[in-house]
Amino acid sequence: MSLKTRFLGLAACLIIVASLASWLAYRELSESIIERWGQQVAEIQVRYDSARLLQSLEREIGLARQMASSSALINWAANPDNAALESEAIRQMESFRTNFRDNTYFVALLNNRHYYYNNAENDFAGSQFRYVLDEDKPDDAWFFQLVEEGRDFHLNVNPDPELGVTKLWIDVLMRNEAGEVVGMVGTGLSLDAFLQDIVDIGQEGITTLFVDYNGAIQLYRDRNYIDFASIIKPEGQKNTVDLLFDDPQDKQQILGMLQLLKKRSDQAGQVESGFVTVDGKEHLAGVAFLPAIGWFEITLLDLNTLVPSSYLWPLVGVFLGTLLFTLVLFHLIIQSRILKPIMGLEHAVEKVREGSFELPRLDKPDNEIGWLADHFEKMAHNLGHSTRELEEKVAQRTEELNRLARIDPLTGLKNRRGLDEVLDEEIQRARRQETGFGVIWLDIDHFKHINDNLGHQAGDQILCRVALWLKAGVRPYDYPGRWGGDEFVVLLSPCDPGTLSRIARRIRESVEQESHKTGTTVTVSVGGYHAKPGDSSDTILHYADRALYQAKGEGRNRVCITTSEDPEINPA
Ligand code: GH3
Ligand code: MG
Repeated sequence: MSLKTRFLGLAACLIIVASLASWLAYRELSESIIERWGQQVAEIQVRYDSARLLQSLEREIGLARQMASSSALINWAANPDNAALESEAIRQMESFRTNFRDNTYFVALLNNRHYYYNNAENDFAGSQFRYVLDEDKPDDAWFFQLVEEGRDFHLNVNPDPELGVTKLWIDVLMRNEAGEVVGMVGTGLSLDAFLQDIVDIGQEGITTLFVDYNGAIQLYRDRNYIDFASIIKPEGQKNTVDLLFDDPQDKQQILGMLQLLKKRSDQAGQVESGFVTVDGKEHLAGVAFLPAIGWFEITLLDLNTLVPSSYLWPLVGVFLGTLLFTLVLFHLIIQSRILKPIMGLEHAVEKVREGSFELPRLDKPDNEIGWLADHFEKMAHNLGHSTRELEEKVAQRTEELNRLARIDPLTGLKNRRGLDEVLDEEIQRARRQETGFGVIWLDIDHFKHINDNLGHQAGDQILCRVALWLKAGVRPYDYPGRWGGDEFVVLLSPCDPGTLSRIARRIRESVEQESHKTGTTVTVSVGGYHAKPGDSSDTILHYADRALYQAKGEGRNRVCITTSEDPEINPA
């Protein structure tokens, strides 16, 4: 896998991990912010709804209390059969009726269990006495229950089949001076209007409901949940608030809140809140106790409706955009600052490995890679320089060795290998130019004796001198050389047979004369052969050697020349 792929993969992994961590942190944070915000909203909403309910009921409750403490009614309750007291009481009741919001009232006397009622339409003028409450009738149980409980004030949602109305009833016990219960008075508020005003406020995402002291639902937008005539139902048959929740934990939580608030009912304005699930959606529930009416108010906030997650889409968009931008930027930076210089460097290393020191221009960013590239460039430059120097030296040394390999170390003349090369070149040249050339082969006479008599060193000296005289005796463009031992060969190029003969004789003479001057006369026998174009080196050497052999045979210290024209060589 290339470094680029790895880098990008690693960067993508890191960014995804960081993004996930940020996203989780963001979720956690936003949830806690929403939760705190929701709790505050729930608390405010609960207080607001409570205030609205109380405000709406306060006047009615006040009037009902006033009615319950009316002396005309209390006196009558003690003597219900007294017609004068009754008519005074009914007059009082009718005056209260006009003041109640729904223009409805009821009065129930404990003494004779008579139930009085009149409505907004004044349908029962003159016949306010409606019926006698029967302890055994379930529909009348509420009265006996409240009297038995001795609760001075009670709110009750109850249908009255006799009257054919369902109302929110405000019930207030009527007591005489001794504090004994003598009856009950109150008013009923139209449930529909009330639900519309207080509960069904039509604000999306906010649900308000009221439950009684025992958790039975009293006011809720869905009438099916309302626990009508709650007071007379035994425990377990009531529509309690936990019906709204599916999760047992939520039920527990809400009931726990109610318990807690009951305990703290002396502390005004206490609100409890927590998350619950209603209809599969998460809600924040705020619960407050309303000591004035003995009810709880529960507000459910649907956070998804109030703060829809689509609010977050622009944020997610910005987040993803930034992520993409960061990746692209990261890619570009990695590409230009790391990968491109490294690839350039790798290419340069490859070139140096192949032996080329002509490097392409390297990318040198101002970082470790740039510094590495700079060092590498200098190193490659130095390496190139010293390699070139070394190559030059090797070439010089090789040339020198080649030269030395063709030089006789004792005399400084060409050796046999040098002579062979020159001979081959001459054969080629002769072929090209169709001209002949001369070869002289000479051998010192009785050299063994010289060695034997004067010593090997003196013999060497003589070999060197012969070489000098030989050089002096030929033309500048001839090639004198030592064939080996006491034998010398000279290539004369170009030359004709006459010149060959002349030079051969001059050599023989000069050796004899010059050596004489040194006190040790040395003579040489000389064989010469004038080669024609097309002669091979073997032929040429053979005839030159034969001529030398002939000179030796004829008594030494003489010259024998053979040409290719000789009948012996070219018999007719
Ligand atoms: P000839 O007249 O027949 O040539 O007799 P010669 O004694 O010269 O016999 P030949 O040419 O066969 O002998 C060559 C001698 O040269 C043999 C050897 O001892 C001697 N020699 C060969 N190389 C060297 C050398 O480098 N230095 C010395 N001092 N002597 C050498
Ligand atoms: Mg010899």
